[in-house]
Amino acid sequence: MENQFPRGSRNESRIKKRLLEIELDFCEICNYKPPSFMRTNGNDPLHLHHIKPYKLGGSDSLINRIYLCPNCHSIADYLARLSDVYHKRPDLFN
Ligand SMILES: [Zn+2]
Repeated sequence: MENQFPRGSRNESRIKKRLLEIELDFCEICNYKPPSFMRTNGNDPLHLHHIKPYKLGGSDSLINRIYLCPNCHSIADYLARLSDVYHKRPDLFN
């Protein structure tokens, strides 16, 4: 089974710990790096986005994730929804 870990499980915190170990603490699209005070008490303003959507069988592992700021995460989600509509109703884009 591709999804070894349920969403929001300890895997999520393991991935974030690993990202910090490799000093990936910024948005992978716009390079925004949240100030350290925003990352206290377990808070993390950056989001782990699934490159291949989880609901389409995308893995929860690091290889299928990208670390994004909230703005880039919104854009990525929007583009994924737009792509989904395009594949279901290409006639809408003619
Ligand atoms: Zn960003």
